[in-house]
Amino acid sequence: MFSVGNKVSIMSSELHEVVIIGSGPAGLTAALYTARASLHPLVIEGLQPGGQLTITTMVENWPGHRDGVMGPQLMADMRAQAEHFGTAFLSGLVERVDFSSRPFVLTLDSGHEIRARTVIVSTGASAKLLGLPSEMKLMGRGVSTCATCDGFFFRNRPVAIVGGGDTALEEALYLSKLASQVTVIHRRDTLRASKIMQDKALANPKIAFRWNSAIDEILADEHGNVNSARVSNLQTGEVEMLTVDGVFIAIGHTPNTSLFKGILDMDEGGYLVTTGTRTNVAGVFAAGDVQDQVYRQAITSAGTGCMAAMDAERWLELGDVEFHHAGEPATVAVPVRA
Ligand code: FAD
Ligand code: NAP
Repeated sequence: MFSVGNKVSIMSSELHEVVIIGSGPAGLTAALYTARASLHPLVIEGLQPGGQLTITTMVENWPGHRDGVMGPQLMADMRAQAEHFGTAFLSGLVERVDFSSRPFVLTLDSGHEIRARTVIVSTGASAKLLGLPSEMKLMGRGVSTCATCDGFFFRNRPVAIVGGGDTALEEALYLSKLASQVTVIHRRDTLRASKIMQDKALANPKIAFRWNSAIDEILADEHGNVNSARVSNLQTGEVEMLTVDGVFIAIGHTPNTSLFKGILDMDEGGYLVTTGTRTNVAGVFAAGDVQDQVYRQAITSAGTGCMAAMDAERWLELGDVEFHHAGEPATVAVPVRA
């Protein structure tokens, strides 16, 4: 392997101590820690270098930035810090993994093969979107997929939430403490959310519901910020222009794990199952949203990225037996390649 700027050219024969799949907060934190441990990590960046925070504006809940930090800037700083300590970066997508024997082999979309002693999976999760053209255009300008992240920007302003599950209602309840009015737009007339959430949301005077309804367009003012949504009643065909400054899409997430189907253990939602950060394959660790369907925050992703790096370092140092001897539950050890 040799560096071209901060990218690398690949020599298939090289054996990497640590390869990190994904360059969001989890992957870049894992890179920082493994780089500082002199493990010379290689990060494969994927289609979204820097991860989900690169599509947002101000991040106000990343500790240490009193006045907030722009998402793309935060990720550029994380990348530069990881690079400063010796992380190598590679553009591209991992298309196939072979974890059946060691060293592990990752095949990129370019066809190149990467060999690794340990792998940290940090491929994140993607919020499901409605598929409206305006949605991506207005992401970070009033459209959001995360109330905890962006709710603060809508103090005393009207917002809408799409979805009828626990996430939608949890976000509605959270936003009701900040926004002037919260309108939940749900495509059916019964909610999918748990009874307790339903009871709380239905009893909240700041939360209104539009049943059997869908947003078919999100509109913006002359500055490009959301100012309304066109809502259609799916039964009557009636159309309403709803005045809102924010539209939160809460129709579920998809973890980016299709690559690992049949290889790494997943729950029914497709999230990787981990013990700490260990997957079912010894030497393969996972961090961030890809293994967390509860918190899904930048800081928790970075936290588990740190944990995965420390686990990988310890595993490389101790090997399977000692690692597990130290109180770790056993994962499946795989044979060494001939
Ligand atoms: P991600 O950030 O999703 O990164 C995944 C990485 O994996 C990407 O680099 C991608 O290119 C790569 N990848 C995926 N598949 C492959 C593959 N096959 N091969 C190679 N690479 C691959 N959280 C907060 O704490 N505060 C906020 O203010 C906040 N605002 C948000 C605003 C928006 C609009 C969104 C969408 C999310 C926001 N979040 C916020 C949530 C936060 O962004 C995520 O929790 C965090 O980015 C997850 O980090 P991650 O590293 O696990 O994954
Ligand atoms: P979910 O349960 O799958 O609900 C998704 C909601 O979005 C459903 O109401 C669905 O409508 C709607 N939806 C899906 N696609 C849509 C589309 N294209 N257009 C409009 N609406 C669409 O997802 P979730 O709410 O994110 O919850 C995921 C899991 O996490 C669940 O198991 C949930 O219980 C759990 N969770 C728990 C808590 C908690 O306990 N506090 C909080 C959050 C999440 P339909 O109902 O018509 O299908």
